[in-house]
Amino acid sequence: MGIVELAESAGVKLRRSGKTYTGFCPFHSNTKTPAFVIWPESGTWRCFGECGEGGDIFKFVMKKEGVEFKDALKILAERTGVTLAEYQPQAPEQKEEYQRLRNLLEEAATFYRHHLVSTEGGSVALAYLMEKRKITRDTIDRFSLGFAPNGWDSTLTHFKTKGYSESDLLDVGLITERESGGYYDKFRNRVMIPIRTEDGKMAGFGARILDPNDIPKFMNSPQTVLFDKSSILFGLNQAKKPIRSADQAVIVEGYLDVIALHQAGFSNAVSPMGTAITETQIRMLKKFSRKIILALDPDSAGQKAVMRGLESARSSMDSEDEVRFDAHGLLRHEHRLSADLRVASMPDGLDPDEVVEKNPDLWRQLVASAKPVVEYVLDTLIAQQDVNDPKNKSAIVTRMIPLIEDLPDPIQRDAYRQMVARKVKVDERSLLAIKVHEKPSLPRWKEKPVAQNSGQNKPSTLIVNGNENVEITILAILLQNPGLLPKLDRKLSESNLQSLGWQDFNSTEMHIILSLLQRSLEQDQLELSKFVEVNVPDEVRPMYQRIVGQRQANSLEDRLLDELLRSIFAIRKDRIKKELEQISYLMKDPDNATPAKLSDLSGVMQAHSMQLKNLDDARKKMTEYRQK
Ligand SMILES: [Zn+2]
Repeated sequence: MGIVELAESAGVKLRRSGKTYTGFCPFHSNTKTPAFVIWPESGTWRCFGECGEGGDIFKFVMKKEGVEFKDALKILAERTGVTLAEYQPQAPEQKEEYQRLRNLLEEAATFYRHHLVSTEGGSVALAYLMEKRKITRDTIDRFSLGFAPNGWDSTLTHFKTKGYSESDLLDVGLITERESGGYYDKFRNRVMIPIRTEDGKMAGFGARILDPNDIPKFMNSPQTVLFDKSSILFGLNQAKKPIRSADQAVIVEGYLDVIALHQAGFSNAVSPMGTAITETQIRMLKKFSRKIILALDPDSAGQKAVMRGLESARSSMDSEDEVRFDAHGLLRHEHRLSADLRVASMPDGLDPDEVVEKNPDLWRQLVASAKPVVEYVLDTLIAQQDVNDPKNKSAIVTRMIPLIEDLPDPIQRDAYRQMVARKVKVDERSLLAIKVHEKPSLPRWKEKPVAQNSGQNKPSTLIVNGNENVEITILAILLQNPGLLPKLDRKLSESNLQSLGWQDFNSTEMHIILSLLQRSLEQDQLELSKFVEVNVPDEVRPMYQRIVGQRQANSLEDRLLDELLRSIFAIRKDRIKKELEQISYLMKDPDNATPAKLSDLSGVMQAHSMQLKNLDDARKKMTEYRQK
């Protein structure tokens, strides 16, 4: 169902005029002037009368039913089967292109598998998996594990003879470009672990060394159009049902841990992509259970990461296997996502796969006794030093208090203060006297790597309306530099143009993101872009991710402002022209042929023409300025 049918089903009588439809606006009471216009091509509508509203189908339902975006989505889905995904369909050719690349990855999994189980070269890998890691043939089949042969062009040659191009192989990250020109296999002499999306589609590979002298020990496919590390969890396609039925998800640090746990019957285990646990990943898990346990390797990067938030000066570690999630970050996410995050640590230097292999009951017990983040941090600090030493008491308390003060719930704060007092053996009243000197810094996020394929065969971006990419660019620049927004509005008003507003964007999702940006400037609790990130509603998050994914390279503010203005001029000119055309249609409408209405409309028309002139002037001014 499109916007036309939707409006008609809401009782709006529409008449076709050219590429558009006109009727009486259902949102204001004047029902004499047909001022309501629909553009079926872009799926948008606009009232040129009293209310001046406009937007997409979602905005229409929001206005009509007086509901939030989220509920508009539900209503539309129930009534018409329209979902956001359908509303923003991938261009068909892109869908096909993605499917073709997924097929290539599927074939690669088969290719590597063949090398593991049926070739001489794979026998070492097979022995490693079965004897050293105690992985059974069943499990090898279930996860379709494989082996990348030890040559520079085995994969390359195999797939070229199957008709794939070098640029296809580059796009899915199976080969790497030589600096001197030419290509070579990215994965050589490694155990290959296929990584699939939540719904089981191939996305990439994880690869582990066999030769202890090779580096790095683990590597993943590079970021590609199919492989977005921040939004994939290894094992989730197999773990989602078990997570739901156990009402608990366990995050471990390695793919082989996941595999070992599933093999032992603990199928609710997943692993992030070796870099960071991202908020997106936590959200994905939360669809199945809000109880999430981090089972961290002893003395691992992950375990250190949880503790790292307590240090005032945080070192930036960029190694591939870093779980960038510190205590403050965990607590903030726990609250924001109303999840229940707990930390379990492994005993005696054992990794999860070793624990479960030795003693499945021990694993059960460790998971059952996972601790809330604050308690975990406290116990870890206590275990590291003698709490009877007054100096240590003070050191522990100083590190715990900011963490506790950061909790949004006063009852929890009280309870944890009591716990600290009890475990560190100090008087609780002395804790209250401690002032938190500095606001704990916000968790640091690993920058999302930009897709690495700049190749020629890059699938085109989604197209919903002609200006969508420009609109995304505008929001992407602003999300990255929210401080530009007031400067931008000032520039616009200097040229007698309106501030950036919802009219500049077609989709309700973008309206919502813009209004969050505007709200971010009115608060001082959070860093501006953080404020937006935190407050984006779940339903708008896919659009938000798309925008953030288009991060612009940091460049000079002036240049960005320039780029912003130019983009805004472009979309506005487009819109105003489209609307002017429409207003002249409306003026010819016999229903509008009274002097009063005609003068109303010609007023709108004049305002539009004026805007167009101002736009042109502003654009000229910019060009002259640049030529100077
Ligand atoms: Zn109206």
